[in-house]
Amino acid sequence: MNITFLGTSAGLPTKERNTQTIILSLAPTQNSFWLFDAGEACQHQILHTNIKLGKIDQIFITHLHGDHIFGLPGLLTSRSFQGGEGKPLTVYGPTGIKAYIETTLLISGSHLNYPLEIIEIHDGEELIIEQIKVTVRKLHHGIDSFGYRIQFPDTQGNLISDKLIAAGIMPGPIYQQFKLQEHVEIDGVTYESKDYRMPDKPGKVIAIFGDTMPCPSEVTLAEQADVIVHESTYLEGDLDLSHKYYHSHIDDVAQLANVCGVKRVLINHVSNRYDLNDIAQLTEVIKAKYPELNFVIVNDFDSFEI
Ligand SMILES: [Zn+2]
Ligand SMILES: [Zn+2]
Repeated sequence: MNITFLGTSAGLPTKERNTQTIILSLAPTQNSFWLFDAGEACQHQILHTNIKLGKIDQIFITHLHGDHIFGLPGLLTSRSFQGGEGKPLTVYGPTGIKAYIETTLLISGSHLNYPLEIIEIHDGEELIIEQIKVTVRKLHHGIDSFGYRIQFPDTQGNLISDKLIAAGIMPGPIYQQFKLQEHVEIDGVTYESKDYRMPDKPGKVIAIFGDTMPCPSEVTLAEQADVIVHESTYLEGDLDLSHKYYHSHIDDVAQLANVCGVKRVLINHVSNRYDLNDIAQLTEVIKAKYPELNFVIVNDFDSFEI
């Protein structure tokens, strides 16, 4: 799996950063993409990748601020001409997302040539999509803003060939049965497949946050996550100021990662006051202050294997 950032700025675009857009590639298990937020001009950003809009089959909107949704109508309509014909798409988002999409499509006379389902989400819901569990929790941002915890299914452990051979079971097509079946019968003897497999490998957990100031539900989303994607609108300065505007400060993100045992933190949604030089300098300051924090302040088109 892979996560790519197509917009990393807070509020306004800059020459270096577009507004919020994140793409999760589910390859190799599935040949599809999930989009998180759709900042203005996100479809232009996608044109600089090898992703076809028709391959995006789920869109998750965190909240209805413009820097997270102003690119959505254009993306939906272009999808009709970018391999999306006849391919269903589901959009999840807070209450109001349905009216926003339906109104813009209606008054612009736009017609989609694929089935579009719009699902308004609520705090505490769990969605199961293609065996992937998505937990939805409401954050604290002045308007309804949500975070998504994405839990991929466990994968089966490898066969222990030494143990099979020791039991007199030689490599061959029979090994496939030990992968696919719970029990395997050979010459009247029943073998428990799990006795000949390593323990299941736990599925990865990614948490993607909408804008928020610190709140208890963040912990539920981030607990023991492999990766979190979190805003840090403020990379320095006054903590109270960031909370006054319902946003997070780098100190908040560092604390959340520490409390939850997060393995890797991808920081986006940085204030447009910081240019790339500022980010490079502040990265060193943050590293010195939080040596344990495994983080990257991401730029547009940065891509990470999960
Ligand atoms: Zn925002
Ligand atoms: Zn916001």
